Amino acid sequence: MNLNFKEWIERGEDEPIEFDKRYSSPSQSRTHQRKTYHNRQQIFNNWIDSNKKIVEKLKQAPNRAKSMDYFDNFFCTSSRINELQRQKAKGKKIVGTYCNVIPFELIYAAGAIPIRLCSGDYHSISAGEEIFPKDSCPLIKSSIGWGLIDHPLLKLCDALIIPATCDGKKKMAEIMNDYNPVWMVNPPPDKERRRSVKYWQAELHIMKKKLEHLTNKKVSKEMLKEAIITYQEVQKTNNEILLQRKNNVITGSDYLIVMESMFFADPKSWIKQAKVLIDELKTNFKSNKLAKNKNIQKILLTGAPSIMPNLKIPLCIESFDALILTDITCSGSQYFYDPVVIDEWNMSDMINAISERYLMPSVCPCFVKSDDRIDKLLDMIKEYNIDGVIYHTLRLCLLFDVESCRLKDVLESKGIPHLIINTDYSQEDMGQVTTRIEAFIEILKARKE
Ligand code: SF4
Ligand code: SF4
Repeated sequence: MNLNFKEWIERGEDEPIEFDKRYSSPSQSRTHQRKTYHNRQQIFNNWIDSNKKIVEKLKQAPNRAKSMDYFDNFFCTSSRINELQRQKAKGKKIVGTYCNVIPFELIYAAGAIPIRLCSGDYHSISAGEEIFPKDSCPLIKSSIGWGLIDHPLLKLCDALIIPATCDGKKKMAEIMNDYNPVWMVNPPPDKERRRSVKYWQAELHIMKKKLEHLTNKKVSKEMLKEAIITYQEVQKTNNEILLQRKNNVITGSDYLIVMESMFFADPKSWIKQAKVLIDELKTNFKSNKLAKNKNIQKILLTGAPSIMPNLKIPLCIESFDALILTDITCSGSQYFYDPVVIDEWNMSDMINAISERYLMPSVCPCFVKSDDRIDKLLDMIKEYNIDGVIYHTLRLCLLFDVESCRLKDVLESKGIPHLIINTDYSQEDMGQVTTRIEAFIEILKARKE
């Protein structure tokens, strides 16, 4: 059959990246040995305990919204995991994803449940280091650690979709394929060229085909439309919360919990509860002590994602007279910031719109140019009347490190106060981090006197 290029792409005819199994058995047997001395249940319990400690700390703040309970529960109890287990027993497929470039809409439309598995868990790092170099990014080591210990969330997954965003993620995919079937997707290294956009569309058509094969369901126009509308509602609700953030009524740390619960939540239930939260924030605005504090320094947090329970930087910032009024991170405000914009509700246009939405606005430093992210940052500094920027880089992540140097020059040239913090998930450097953040907040205060 002679297919033109467009037909060829839309049929997902190109070959997916598959890992063959020729060399996996030696590492699988080593993995088996390693698993025996890593106590899965203990690591999982430690994850829950660390999450609980953070939530307990946040609950001490006056006026914390009661409706935060729903979002806290994703991290402090096993209730969502139990629910997913029940769904799986009824035949639902569960697909694990990493980063924020994998469209949840496609997975949802195929009748599967998407969950995001980027990990902020300190306790799984030592397991990850059994199999991945110690001198690498903590997010990768921690995520691999979850694979190695058979974390209950990983155990549920019928497939993992891992984007080759950075070198660490590329090699992580190969390793994770020893535990769960991995489908690797390749975001293009740049976003501007038309061929990059076409290439990404082709990757998503392959993903759709693989999802159909997994769930044994053809994604119809109607199913994809419903999925897009559902996640458009998530995006609109997120933007409503962002509007509330401008009134200083919710801490940045609480906001991260709200957004990161979307890693695991059912979108419709999340929307319902997020609307309850928005109503509560509006109703309590007048009595909210946070909103009344005129001395509070408005911070924009950007750089690497702070993923539960690694809220080390946000919690430290907000332990002083400072509020993270907004953020530019892939697990925070940018996770569901941009809508999928549809011109025509036909299959081809819907996939094109999804691919554009997940590629163009991405704030991941894996793409060639930083200019659009710097533009976004400068716009948000103005929009939120920001006092200072804190750029968080994860130790041994080259991409964020390089980006921070460029950003530093731009912010310096514009006289915008900024602080770059390079750290990992451990608490060892907490004294130093705290001193630097405290001094930065004092400088911001002094500028206003
Ligand atoms: S910054 Fe990029 S590579 Fe890192 S977790 Fe986010 S989307 Fe993934
Ligand atoms: S922090 Fe850096 S090294 Fe780690 S996953 Fe993100 S881009 Fe990759």
